[in-house]
Amino acid sequence: MVDIRGVHKSFGALEVLRGVDLRLRPGEVTAILGPSGSGKSTLLRTINHLEKVDRGWISIDGELIGYRSVRGRLYELKEKAVLRQRTHIGFVFQDFNLFPHLTVLENLVEAPVSALRRPRAEAQATARRLLERVGLADKAGAYPRQLSGGQQQRVAIARALALEPKVLLFDEPTSALDPELVGEVLDVIKDLARTGTTMIVVTHEIGFAREVADTVVFMDGGVVVEQGPPSAVLDDPSHPRTRAFLAKVL
Ligand code: ADP
Ligand code: MG
Repeated sequence: MVDIRGVHKSFGALEVLRGVDLRLRPGEVTAILGPSGSGKSTLLRTINHLEKVDRGWISIDGELIGYRSVRGRLYELKEKAVLRQRTHIGFVFQDFNLFPHLTVLENLVEAPVSALRRPRAEAQATARRLLERVGLADKAGAYPRQLSGGQQQRVAIARALALEPKVLLFDEPTSALDPELVGEVLDVIKDLARTGTTMIVVTHEIGFAREVADTVVFMDGGVVVEQGPPSAVLDDPSHPRTRAFLAKVL
């Protein structure tokens, strides 16, 4: 489903990803943990082609991200084709990133209409269904600034779902929230996990990772140090760096 092989990425002299390998099966939830600066956000951004990899490749559903292969040779996709690929990859940011000048409903309708050419009425019907799913049916006409952080993040999740993504990426979705609002957002993500949505969640919420993830990945220094089921990685980590990190956050 999601196949990441030997991905390298540098910013100038700083090598941020140093050969990342990761494979996700459809419907699987992967939680990525790791210290600040270990390359977690950069990895998510390469999956979405917001960053171009220097070496290695990523494919989703057998489709190479940012490239097409013709008789074994790789050609870079044009901007328009990249945008089309990106519509199938949902991204939920730490700071919500809603369109401030659009209502909640319009936030959900915009991309399906403009990127997927869905009829507006159909997109609106889908949007209302998704708002119901995240418990915000009554906020369709509100503007983002009128919502709490937790509500805004639930709208952002609904907006990502409106594009029917093959995979949903979350970059620390609860880090910007007041503690009392974290639970409502994690509950929505848990609900998605139950319905078999393929997800990668970068998070510091160890309890959440333990409960929801099929696979926990520990990153440090631009590589995957350790990965496995939560019980293995969180309760019985085999690598000293994982143990040191968990000792600090638990
Ligand atoms: P994490 O999400 O694990 O905290 P990041 O992927 O955000 O780590 O960043 C890893 C390293 O790459 C950090 O040192 C960060 O400063 C650097 N970095 C990230 N994006 C850029 C960029 N666009 N230009 C230069 N350096 C960057
Ligand atoms: Mg980050």
